[in-house]
Amino acid sequence: MSRLVSLCKRRGFVYPASEIYGGLNGFWDFGPLGVQLKNNLRDAWWHDMVECPPLGPDGKPLSIVGVDTAIIQHPKAWVASGHVGGFADLMVDCRETKNRYRADHIMVEEVLVAKKSGEVKSLGLFGYVDKDDLQKKLKKFVQKSGGGDIKYHEPSNPRPYTSLSTNERSQVIGPDAENPGTLTEPRAFNLMFHSYTGVFQDEDSKVYLRPETAQGIFLEYKNVLDSNRVRPPFGIAQVGKSFRNEVTPRNFIFRTREFEQMEMEFFCAPEDGLMWYEFWVAERLRWWEEQGVKKDNLFRHIIPESELSHYSKGTSDIEYRYPFTAPEFGELEGVAYRTDYDLKQHQEHSKVNLEYIDQEQNRRYIPHVVEPASGLTRGVLVLLCEAYQYDESRASPEWLKLKPSLAPIKVGIFPLVNKDGMPEVAEKLYLDLRKDYTCQYDAKQSIGKRYARMDEAGTPFCVTVDGDTLKDQAVTIRDRDTAQQERVALANVRAYVKEKLG
Ligand code: ATP
Repeated sequence: MSRLVSLCKRRGFVYPASEIYGGLNGFWDFGPLGVQLKNNLRDAWWHDMVECPPLGPDGKPLSIVGVDTAIIQHPKAWVASGHVGGFADLMVDCRETKNRYRADHIMVEEVLVAKKSGEVKSLGLFGYVDKDDLQKKLKKFVQKSGGGDIKYHEPSNPRPYTSLSTNERSQVIGPDAENPGTLTEPRAFNLMFHSYTGVFQDEDSKVYLRPETAQGIFLEYKNVLDSNRVRPPFGIAQVGKSFRNEVTPRNFIFRTREFEQMEMEFFCAPEDGLMWYEFWVAERLRWWEEQGVKKDNLFRHIIPESELSHYSKGTSDIEYRYPFTAPEFGELEGVAYRTDYDLKQHQEHSKVNLEYIDQEQNRRYIPHVVEPASGLTRGVLVLLCEAYQYDESRASPEWLKLKPSLAPIKVGIFPLVNKDGMPEVAEKLYLDLRKDYTCQYDAKQSIGKRYARMDEAGTPFCVTVDGDTLKDQAVTIRDRDTAQQERVALANVRAYVKEKLG
């Protein structure tokens, strides 16, 4: 993970936000390559969701339309959605280090040290978020207490901090602390950022930055229905920024305080809800595979009934095996069957009738909703983790095996040397190809270094104009994945790239 993070910074995928001021926890900026990759992932989603949605079970294309709603909505919308009252994580503060943790992220183990004499001594209750961090910390503690092998006391094997009694909690050594008893009791912490509209800053002018894009869709559901030829089953999709004042932003762009989501609400008749839920889970798994994510690295985590929100009749998380969760998985997307909960809530709070009148069947109902909700920025992280390759035998040991159509730069175009008519031919090719494909012209440094730079950027093809080009009107095209070169007629370069990009 640390190698990926430094590659991202070095090559301009992702930078820490406000870095010259020391950074701001939970915020990241996308650089030239990163924004291109993010836009490509967003465009692929939009294309496959809105412009060319999948075929439904009856073999006919689904009807899905797009919206782009405001980040700040009427504050009552967030009361209706339950976010003002309930969108809270339990958090724990550490009085010693001033760090803040999500209560459900802290695990606790009693650590026992076996001395050479055979005597077993308890070092206390250790809290940790990351097992690797615990190991590092233990080394220090064991050294301090005069050495010995670390053994875990089996019966006390990892327990969530939240399950401990108040007395036990008061003995825990916090994840980054050295002394016991510095963690506070878990306290609810609302994750919504707020601000004020207009000149007066009081409770009446208080507004929220949206913590999800989904509610904007529910607020526009009636307008979309009234102004478009759509009727259930149909979907409304949206991509945009969301904000959550996460207690513990961590793992690079996995959990940040400002992020982007790609969400779609699929409205259907109540009796079809479960069918569409299964449809969308399968479809979303298939889609992530199509973006180049290996099947083995994806996992459908079915949320057990006892953990479902009261309104949900089924939720599955589509999980990915991130380097920091391996061999386990972490969430990438959630697919939730939300029943008619959201529309009913908004109907009740706004007093506007949100029923759908089905004239054919002569009935009216509030549509049920299936929601595939995915992180765009988290999706970029998945693409980067999946693409990252390390191979000592290559010019650049680190390279990105991105799906060609998602790569930020599609074609690198180089004159072998910057003279003898080569730059002129290369520039002409560049001016032609860049109209359709993101290209980069590079005439600096050795050809090997230029290939290496393109490998690190994940560029699938590099075209080199060499000394023979002027004679045979052909160039070499190097394939990123095989590092093999092929001689291709200048006139066929465009067709070659088109075919390979699919
Ligand atoms: P978690 O339990 O990890 O906090 P969640 O279940 O609350 O996440 P959802 O509300 O279902 O997440 O959001 C849908 C998707 O939005 C998630 O699957 C994830 O990809 C993305 N997402 C949510 N929170 C963040 C965040 N803080 N940073 C980046 N992406 C996020």
